[in-house]
Amino acid sequence: MKKKKIIVLIIIGIIVTLIGVLLFYQYSQHRKQKQLRIEQEIKNQKIESTKQEYEFYLNKEILENPEDDMKQFLNSINQENKKNETINYDTFAQNVFNSNTLDNEHIINMKQSIDNEISLYTIESLTYFTKDNLLDSIQNEELDKDTLIQMYEEHEFIKNLEEEKTKRKIYIQKLETLKSELDYLLENTDEYYIQNNEYICKNDEILNKFNELKEKYNLEINVSKEIIYTSKEVPILCYHGVLDVPWGITDLFVRVNDFEAQMQYLSENGYTPIFVSEIEEANRYEKPIIITFDDGYKDVYTNAYPILQKYKLKANVYMISGWIGGDVYMTSDMTIEMSNSPLIEIGSHTVSHKALANLSNSDIEYEVSESKKTLEAMLNKEVKVIAYPTGSFDERVTSITSKYYQYGLSTIDGKENTSNLNTYTLKRIYVHRNYSLEQFKNIL
Ligand SMILES: [Zn+2]
Repeated sequence: MKKKKIIVLIIIGIIVTLIGVLLFYQYSQHRKQKQLRIEQEIKNQKIESTKQEYEFYLNKEILENPEDDMKQFLNSINQENKKNETINYDTFAQNVFNSNTLDNEHIINMKQSIDNEISLYTIESLTYFTKDNLLDSIQNEELDKDTLIQMYEEHEFIKNLEEEKTKRKIYIQKLETLKSELDYLLENTDEYYIQNNEYICKNDEILNKFNELKEKYNLEINVSKEIIYTSKEVPILCYHGVLDVPWGITDLFVRVNDFEAQMQYLSENGYTPIFVSEIEEANRYEKPIIITFDDGYKDVYTNAYPILQKYKLKANVYMISGWIGGDVYMTSDMTIEMSNSPLIEIGSHTVSHKALANLSNSDIEYEVSESKKTLEAMLNKEVKVIAYPTGSFDERVTSITSKYYQYGLSTIDGKENTSNLNTYTLKRIYVHRNYSLEQFKNIL
């Protein structure tokens, strides 16, 4: 009796198992057939492009429970769509080159931007919209038909996926080329420099390269070969304030209109104003000149600086570190703002404007070193030049100055010559208030 019962149970077990296997077999056959049927239909309809595949799937399957995966899918489509709006290669290339500061740092930053751009337009991301992915999404019940139709209608780039892939491939290739050109510039960074928006090339190879880039990317840049003069005379102009109604010593202040006429003249007659710290490179320029302002009056910021900006002229301003702010001197904010401009180099005019030759060694040391320390902390950059107050110096002054600075400015009248620089007693030419433009031209 017991034996019979066990046999019946075993038979029931076998039957249940068989039914289970059969159902599973049927189910997987069903899925397999469904997939085969779809694939067969793709073949029959001679679907060739992703666009057609997409349309085909849109009409095939239905799904009921859109879940998180679908949201992700939608997000991805939105992102792709957004990227698609911004592809503009020419603008990108022009931004890379039309810069006044094509130094190593800039080039490295630009390479980084190109890498970002490439990763943004990756073709791999488009594989998400291929046949296999869509089929998986439908069969795994991640997407419903209505959503797919809606996405398809709203996003042009999905309708033209093949075209989009080609477009991106070309764009990425162009970016890679652009990057290799930046690599070339990085390797040859010592062979050129930029001066007054002009790329000055030290050899023919780099000259040809820039001309090639100019044509290829339709760049608005000027390119030329460097001419090095054996020596140059450099007038260093000495100004104080730029003000119509002066206070104190009248001759310290040039009228605003006169100053503008003088700057306009320099700008229109081929003069290149440079920083004092660049005087040793003056041989690169046909007509080098240096514009200096002593004392750091507020009107240099309010009156002279806008004119220098208008004509894009470099100038040097010497601050009395203990007298910054108040009614007549530039504030620290003004000084910092000017120092951050590529047109202005700030230097020292000591701590308290004493005639240095009248001081003890330790007082000279204090005036010279403390002003440098204060200005460097304020401006967060090296201060390389000092102008001696009232032009007062002696051997002790120049000796102490040489410990802290690269150059010292005197008020000895005359021009400097690059073949024989008076490094710590640079000569200057005073620009008087009563000068006519003709007189101004004659002192240059
Ligand atoms: Zn002074």
